[in-house]
Amino acid sequence: MSLQIYQIPALTDNYIYILHGEGRTAIIDPSESKDVLHFLQQRDWPLDYILNTHHHHDHVGGNNDIKQHKQCLVYASRHDQERIPSCDKGLTEADIITLGKHVIQIIDIPGHTSGHIAYYLPQDAVLFCGDTLFSMGCGRVFEGTMEQLYDSLQKIKALPDDTMVYCAHEYTVKNIEFALTLDPENKDLQEKLSEATAKREMGKSTVPTFLGDEKKYNPFLKATSLEEFKKIRLMKDDF
Ligand code: ZN
Ligand code: FE
Repeated sequence: MSLQIYQIPALTDNYIYILHGEGRTAIIDPSESKDVLHFLQQRDWPLDYILNTHHHHDHVGGNNDIKQHKQCLVYASRHDQERIPSCDKGLTEADIITLGKHVIQIIDIPGHTSGHIAYYLPQDAVLFCGDTLFSMGCGRVFEGTMEQLYDSLQKIKALPDDTMVYCAHEYTVKNIEFALTLDPENKDLQEKLSEATAKREMGKSTVPTFLGDEKKYNPFLKATSLEEFKKIRLMKDDF
């Protein structure tokens, strides 16, 4: 059976993801608990895992409350074990999580924070990358270094083009506006901006996106050197 993925908008612009396959359920980055618990209750689904990409409050805020209501395991990076609420286990790239027959791999992608990880399902071609790669943008460097974030983006870039990228925030419009300051005449970007703006006006999500598209248009994935990446990341900080 194919994996079902549900997207729940939370806080101002966060997305929480619920993965369901063969009777197993995982939640990725529950910033809040209320809508998630309601969602599970309506379907009468048990919960197997809470998977956190990193320790920021807008990704773990619902951990404690969900864990109090549902018997589940909370996983995050081994580097973040101490600062993730209710964490049961710290993961390394050697760990594998399964939801029925769906395999979830761990990829270390530090930079935004020092213990940031991605959850990657190779057979399903989906990636949950938290605040590292956004649709047409990337996360800020908070605890890691520019070099770490650049290297992490290279790891993501090495995945297949047909990978669906599920990032944790709805930042697409602002990101395309920034991309257009670097390449104002780009017709594809202009078109992407009107598409994304129209979707947002209708209250629709612009996430997920295809990794192949990100490789082609996302300025942070297009950067061919650390120097170039640093330059545009610093420009974006002030945008
Ligand atoms: Zn964050
Ligand atoms: Fe965030």
